[in-house]
Amino acid sequence: MIHELEHTKYALDHSAIVALTDKTGKIKYVNDKFVEISGYSREELIGKTHRVINSQYHSADFMKNLWKTILSGNIWKGEIRNKTKNGKYYWVDTTITPLLDEKGKPEQFIAIHYDITKLKDLEKQKDEFIGIASHELKTPVTSLKGYAQVLRKRFIKDGNKVAVSYMDKMDSQINKLSFLIQDLLDVTKIETGKLQFHTEIIDMNHLVKEILETMQLTTEKHLIVTQGKIKHAVFGDRERIGQVMINLISNAIKYSPKSDKIHVLLSSDTNTVKICIKDYGVGIPKEKQKHVFKRFYRVSGAKEDTFPGLGLGLYISAEIIKRHQGDMSVESTTGEGSTFCFILPTYNSTV
Ligand code: ADP
Repeated sequence: MIHELEHTKYALDHSAIVALTDKTGKIKYVNDKFVEISGYSREELIGKTHRVINSQYHSADFMKNLWKTILSGNIWKGEIRNKTKNGKYYWVDTTITPLLDEKGKPEQFIAIHYDITKLKDLEKQKDEFIGIASHELKTPVTSLKGYAQVLRKRFIKDGNKVAVSYMDKMDSQINKLSFLIQDLLDVTKIETGKLQFHTEIIDMNHLVKEILETMQLTTEKHLIVTQGKIKHAVFGDRERIGQVMINLISNAIKYSPKSDKIHVLLSSDTNTVKICIKDYGVGIPKEKQKHVFKRFYRVSGAKEDTFPGLGLGLYISAEIIKRHQGDMSVESTTGEGSTFCFILPTYNSTV
């Protein structure tokens, strides 16, 4: 048994960065990989907390959540950015396991880290590329739209109906392209912390009515029916909240090709406003529902070809709602349909 433990430790020390701390977080042991990556000597680390390698990157909430998790005896997993002795940053994928005493209270913590700095660098490069590419695409698409409109007017003047109908099709494809580019730009803004809001008091019934009227024009098949009323105003970015509704209704239309109805359910109390978009479409399997708000996530399967998209709309929408101190959720049954809801604090509850 002792042999096996020694072998496990030997293997672990060769693959991972390991630290053992007491219950206050003071380092009692570090392996060679920890010493190597941090640039500190063993003597400089023992007796100190992980604060020595703190890079000031993570929020107070992030750290509070980490400590709350491990102090209550649970395992914490996540990605942490640290700083070496000579000031260089490195990222680690971390698992912290509390070792409990006989009363079930954490006595020590084992932190096992894996170096993911290269992966993070690649991710950063990818984000930068998306940012530059979408920015560069925006100008030609805008000018394409302008010229298409000029041509359309010419064809109308000439009475060329066939050409006008082609121009309409072209315009709707250009609009699709613009939306894709806008989504990519929004993702870049989210990733770089540059998504800004222009806040005002919003009459939600008015906003819902406006959005539904516009969205109804985009579908001949589906009837979008509202149920309920919102009795309270919201304080936030009208355009961005409208964008969330457009995303959810577009998805409801896109993912329910065989049904002809979409319900928009409205409700509110003194503290929260709730809006749900219910469709009777393909639905989302249970195990995939928790992933749909992630960046670039698409439910894979045969329908991937049927329904085009980048897997960004829900990620952007959830971020917009989160930044308004709200929350977004989904309930869905495969083959029966999905209901996407979001709640927002009322204006009264925020003043
Ligand atoms: P996109 O639609 O561009 O793929 P989204 O971020 O809007 O990206 O959605 C992510 C994934 O969630 C979609 O690929 C789809 O599989 C699933 N999804 C979203 N809305 C619905 C819906 N109303 N019904 C079924 N599946 C949905």
